[in-house]
Order: sequence, then structure tokens, then C-alpha cells
Amino acid sequence: MAVATYLFTLSTSSVRLVPDGRAKFEIACKRCAMRLMVDRIRVAEAAAMTDHLCEHHPELGVSRAAALGDVFEHYRVRPTQR
Ligand SMILES: [Zn+2]
Repeated sequence: MAVATYLFTLSTSSVRLVPDGRAKFEIACKRCAMRLMVDRIRVAEAAAMTDHLCEHHPELGVSRAAALGDVFEHYRVRPTQR
């Protein structure tokens, strides 16, 4: 699966964070205070979300090749625009 391959190969450092005023989404970990402010959710952002779960919440058993749905269920994503 292409998505799983991308999640495995991209690094966290490729995530582009944007200033508060320009962020369109806040991605919040349900299990800690980690927040990502992004303008859109791309493969790189999804990879960072996966990395966070692997590194900080290993008890969840999420692997770096996990399906996107299995990663997103551990986050709250909400729009920041009014
Ligand atoms: Zn967390």
C-alpha cells in the first residue's frame, strides 16, 4: 500500500508547522498535550502523527506501517478557522 510506504519513509522533520493565524487545523493527541498546528493534513503530517504514537505511546501498539485510520483514531482534529 502506497500510504503505508510513505508513512514508513517520511521523517518527522518534514512536517511544516504554520503560524497560529494561518493554521487551519489543530491536531491534538488524545493521550497527552501534543499539538500540531497545520494548514492541511498531508502525508508528512500523518507521518509525524504516526511517529508520535510510536515514540510516546508504544502501549497502543501502533506501528509505523499502520493504516491511516488506526493513527487518526488516537487524535482529535479540529478546524481553527471561524
Ligand atoms: Zn501523545
